[in-house]
This record gives sequence, structure tokens and C-alpha cells, in this order.
Amino acid sequence: MDGDRLAAYHEKRDFDITPEPAAGSKEGAHRQIFVVQEHDARNLHYDLRLEVGGVLKSWAVPKGPSMNPKDKRLAIEVEDHPLAYASFEGVIPEGEYGAGAVIVWDTGPYRNLTEKDGREIPLAEALQKGHASFQLEGEKLKGGFALTRTGRGWILIKMKDDLADAGRDILQTEPRSVLSGKTVREISGGK
Ligand code: MN
Repeated sequence: MDGDRLAAYHEKRDFDITPEPAAGSKEGAHRQIFVVQEHDARNLHYDLRLEVGGVLKSWAVPKGPSMNPKDKRLAIEVEDHPLAYASFEGVIPEGEYGAGAVIVWDTGPYRNLTEKDGREIPLAEALQKGHASFQLEGEKLKGGFALTRTGRGWILIKMKDDLADAGRDILQTEPRSVLSGKTVREISGGK
């Protein structure tokens, strides 16, 4: 199952060279998770990944997530990643796909909030239809977020709720990995 869904992921990478995980971990009884990885590739960006149907649905977010509901952040859908990628942190070697340092900027469980006429719409279906909302329970990102597909890509926004915070740039105030405590620069060797 993972084999087909992850074909694009596997095709782009040489697992003899890159330290990224080759296979997905087994699905167990656990809450669905999200992860945001800061990725210092050719252009520094943040990758938002949501566990859906046994893989991580993934978007590259050039400007990163924001806690300010007024910010509309472009999110470019990229290939599904294996679940094991959620804890990947390290340096993808020069010459490999996505070469550069990666940290787990935030992670935690999430809850699907998408509904229509009072009925929950499964997240896979919601994403197919082009609009999904979900409650993130990370260490940094908390509260409702929404993804909406537009002609130019997806837009990620913070929903208006008690946890929204227009007053500070969370990318600047909390730059460190929630796994190792390191910045992306420290992971890459401090260059
Ligand atoms: Mn990336």
C-alpha cells in the first residue's frame, strides 16, 4: 500500500546516500500527528505534513506557518512522505533531492475539524475537495488551522480562535527543534 503511494518519494531519493527514512513505520493505534519541519534547502522553507491514511500529506510553505489569522501563507503540495519522516532531523547530502539541513520545528497530534451540515468530513475527502480545517496540538502551533486549494496552490491560515496571536512572529521567537533543541543552522554544522 505504502509502496504505491510513496512511489514519488522513493523515486527522488537514493537511500544509500541520504539519511532520510526509506520506508514507513507500521501504523498502530495512535492519534494522528502533524509535523512542521524547517528545511534549509536552496530556499529556506517549512514543510507541513499531516498524517492521513497511513502517509504524511505534505506541503512546502515558503514563509512558514503563522499564528496571525490575517496571514495567508502559500502552501505548495509535494509528494506524500512515509510516517517515519515525522521524526527525521539531519542533513540531506549535497547533490541529493532537497539537499540541506532539516529540523523538526514542531510536532504533535491533530484533530480533524472539517465538517459539513454538522457531519465530520474525513480529512482525505476534505483535502480532495480542496478545503480542510484541523486543530493542531503542537508545542508551538496550537488551535485551528485551515488549508484551502486555490488556482495558485494551497493557502494555509490560522483560524480565529482563543489561541490565535497576531502579536508575535513565532518563527523568530521559537526557532529551535522540539526534538533536539537545535536550530537548523546548528544541525547543518553552524555554517
Ligand atoms: Mn522541504
